[in-house]
Amino acid sequence: MTRENAFASQTLSLNVYFILEKSKWMNHSEAACVFNGLFLTSTGMISMNSHFVHDRRAKVLALLLVIACAVLANGCGKSQLHTGYSDARVSERPTQSSPRGIAARPFPSAHTTAVAECPVPPDPVSHRTITHEVAPLETIWRLSRMYDVSEESIYLANNLKPGETIHIGQKLLIPHARPLRHVISLYPNERWQYIILHHTASDIGKALLINNYHHDRGFWNGLGYHFVIGNGTLGKLDGQIEVSPRWIKQLQGAHCKAGGMNEKSIGIALVGNFNEDLPTQAQLDSLSYLLKLLTDYYRIPPSRVMGHGDVQGARTDCPGTRFPWPVIRQCLAR
Ligand SMILES: [Zn+2]
Repeated sequence: MTRENAFASQTLSLNVYFILEKSKWMNHSEAACVFNGLFLTSTGMISMNSHFVHDRRAKVLALLLVIACAVLANGCGKSQLHTGYSDARVSERPTQSSPRGIAARPFPSAHTTAVAECPVPPDPVSHRTITHEVAPLETIWRLSRMYDVSEESIYLANNLKPGETIHIGQKLLIPHARPLRHVISLYPNERWQYIILHHTASDIGKALLINNYHHDRGFWNGLGYHFVIGNGTLGKLDGQIEVSPRWIKQLQGAHCKAGGMNEKSIGIALVGNFNEDLPTQAQLDSLSYLLKLLTDYYRIPPSRVMGHGDVQGARTDCPGTRFPWPVIRQCLAR
């Protein structure tokens, strides 16, 4: 095959790849699948006929092959459960996705991010327009996943231009919102060897409020935890998992200085004071889900899931004297 013909084959395949990806028929990996099949097929054609690029009949045949490959590759795309991502500006967008509600596999490569999604129980009202207050580093992409609403309809409902920046505390209308679901991105990172559990030692709370509080206390980057699990106060659902900017940016925590845990542990805080109360069932369910997801993905053994006060050198009773460890240990043993 001549260099010119090889180039023609690659150009033809790349064109189809970009058309499929940009048209939102397929996401990046699906379109890449088409590209690979198409490139191999057209390369084979050109190898058989060195005059391929100058022959009109061969061009028609190539066009038919393009259509056939696209149809075949559509089947390939259906094996992946995620929808396409057309906007690559948001860094937390995954390069590869995992099936909804199923823990992602241990990270296979240094550049693969997975997203796990799971319904938050139970939201009695669905398919209605709600108002959402933007938490730290929340994006339209994330809101779209959380409420299963297209990004376009969120932009439209709020008179925003596509890609326009949103701000912490901004109130956004979410049209036709479905029951909220957890959206947890999993990033390949060897840093995470422990998980440290906390309580907020307050009756009410949410990520935005704790973010402001930690800022005021001089914590660099605000909210010191990686995840906050709400108790149904301040507009958050009972059991709602809020993802901190520290997690999205994969930064070390500011939640447990003892034992160097800030550098090597994932910090999860449950809203509540568990010296006096117990976590709600919804909080425990969400915590169990999150622990299973994180321990599986980062291969963290149950013995490395600890309370803040269990870390050597930490002088605290966090996450509270009434924290139900037997329930958590039972969940980790599964
Ligand atoms: Zn703590």
